[in-house]
Amino acid sequence: MKTIIVANWKMNPVSLAEAMTLLNSVNSLIKKKIKKIKNLEIVICPPFAYLPIFFSKKPLLFELGAQDCFWEEKGAFTGEICPLMLKSLGCQYVILGHSERRRHLKETDEMINRKIKMTLSAKLRPILCVGETWDERKENLTQKILKLQIEKGLKGVEKKNLKKIIIAYEPVWAIGTGKACSPDEAEKGGDFIRKVISRLSNKKIAKSIQIIYGGSVNSQNAAGYIFGAKFQGLLPGGASLDVKEFSGIIGNFD
Ligand code: PEP
Repeated sequence: MKTIIVANWKMNPVSLAEAMTLLNSVNSLIKKKIKKIKNLEIVICPPFAYLPIFFSKKPLLFELGAQDCFWEEKGAFTGEICPLMLKSLGCQYVILGHSERRRHLKETDEMINRKIKMTLSAKLRPILCVGETWDERKENLTQKILKLQIEKGLKGVEKKNLKKIIIAYEPVWAIGTGKACSPDEAEKGGDFIRKVISRLSNKKIAKSIQIIYGGSVNSQNAAGYIFGAKFQGLLPGGASLDVKEFSGIIGNFD
């Protein structure tokens, strides 16, 4: 299984010109390292607005992903984007349940569950983000929150589809704060997530599912999550907008 690096550009950069510059830099960075990083799957998740332009730029040396989608197949849902549109724009992955959407858009586990099912039916791979807030961690509620978010998020998902889902352990307090969770602590979260999946399905599926870490990942700490804590990938946000940092993250896998 390839280690996956999912770059979440969030609502950045704010102009197409800047987005193209970043895209070209990332593409040439990957071109330079392509032989050394053949065990890496690199996924760039730009804002929706840039997807058509990125898709038409060939060759793209990475996979495309989206940062969200809607739960209906098509129709009268003003402002929304459905998984089939994303598929037609070359996306293979969709980030779902990011804590910023749970917080600012009041997304519930039920909404996220519907999005996961629609994403799977469009044959895209959902990346389900789960994680506790700092208050929840202080109150020893981390496992309870992870269990709830996973059980509700994956409710009714067929067993055969579970292994298509990537789970991102993203402690909310570590996102965009520069205070990354230590690899040891992150590993506890990752192990617990695998246990929850095992209870929902079976050991074989739980073993095969990709669990990745996100939360202030940078070039200095990236290796600890992969080689120390044994995550199968990373979800950098801020660091993916800085080509030097992103190059440093990828450089760990030369
Ligand atoms: C994220 O976008 O999910 C994220 C973890 O951001 P950052 O790396 O900036 O903390």
